[in-house]
Amino acid sequence: MEIIPIKDWGIASSPLIIAGPCSAETEKQTLESCAGAAAAGANVLRAGIWKPRTGPHSFQGIGEEGMPWLVQAGKDAGLPTSTEVGTAEHVEIALKYGIDILWIGAKTVVDPYAVENIAAALKGVDVPVMVKNPATPTMSLWTGAFKRLHNQGVRKMAAIHRGFATPYAAPFRHEPLWDMVAEFMRLMPGVEMINDPSHICGRRDLLLPIARKAKSYGHHGWMIETHTTPDEAWSDAAQQVTPEGLKTLLGKLFAETNVPQGKTKEEVEALWYDLNRLDGDLAELLQQRAEVSKELAKYKQEAGADLMYEDWDASLENRISSWGNQGIPQGLTRRIMDLIRNYDLGLQNEVLKES
Ligand code: PEP
Ligand code: MN
Repeated sequence: MEIIPIKDWGIASSPLIIAGPCSAETEKQTLESCAGAAAAGANVLRAGIWKPRTGPHSFQGIGEEGMPWLVQAGKDAGLPTSTEVGTAEHVEIALKYGIDILWIGAKTVVDPYAVENIAAALKGVDVPVMVKNPATPTMSLWTGAFKRLHNQGVRKMAAIHRGFATPYAAPFRHEPLWDMVAEFMRLMPGVEMINDPSHICGRRDLLLPIARKAKSYGHHGWMIETHTTPDEAWSDAAQQVTPEGLKTLLGKLFAETNVPQGKTKEEVEALWYDLNRLDGDLAELLQQRAEVSKELAKYKQEAGADLMYEDWDASLENRISSWGNQGIPQGLTRRIMDLIRNYDLGLQNEVLKES
């Protein structure tokens, strides 16, 4: 697949720092939030004009009325603008107003018809398009969207990591699933990755560690929702930062990192060593557990498997309570037990098939 990298889009320097409000709400709020984001270090402005919200009673976006506000904000700051498109009509309107970069949102990427319609509307148009990861962790929907766009001639493309809707996201709003993102980067070489810690975290106090982790993965940009009065925002209030907050965040994100004060390099390495050793112990325990599980499968075979299934709800509650006493949060216990249970089913099925 032929992909033009961000630095050759002729729009903004890399890394992209895309900031501005979740939604354009009023003219004043859009102009002020974008001006604040620009002063804090953004090199591309954002504002959602159309908002595909999960609930019908949430703010659904101001619509075309907000377009001139975003365009004006771009002119005032001398920066390119970006917005989300969910339909071919949105593409047409955004292009009419001269929006510089478009993105397809997480709830749109799950719908191949919608992506195909957007791709068709972009045929022959030289505008960069960013594709957010689909809300569900379905790799082929994400890679498929790039292929659909590529088929229509779109070459300036990048991906946005905004986290996935899973039952185990806490403390985040959307689970980051870093391994899936790394796998995407492996499957789609040349597609640069932009981190959206705002939609991953859902709360502003968690943004920095997520943004930093993305940096360690070599991401090529960040999208950070910024609003002059975030607590009063009409959408995503808890995750938006003030322009001042953005400035602080970017300062910390791009600060040179060294060994923490008062520690030697060896002391830090000793902690990594401990973590590696403990992961080794976990592997040993998992292997022992697998042996017991396979042994049990043999009894199931003899007794008739259906008679021998444990009361999963009761044993999960039991684990949640006993692990909880050792400080393991409920979500982690559920996640680990769910994975182990799936692993068990696979192992036991192998034994049952053999006999
Ligand atoms: C957004 O960027 O405001 C947005 C709606 O994002 P997502 O598609 O990630 O939910
Ligand atoms: Mn948002």
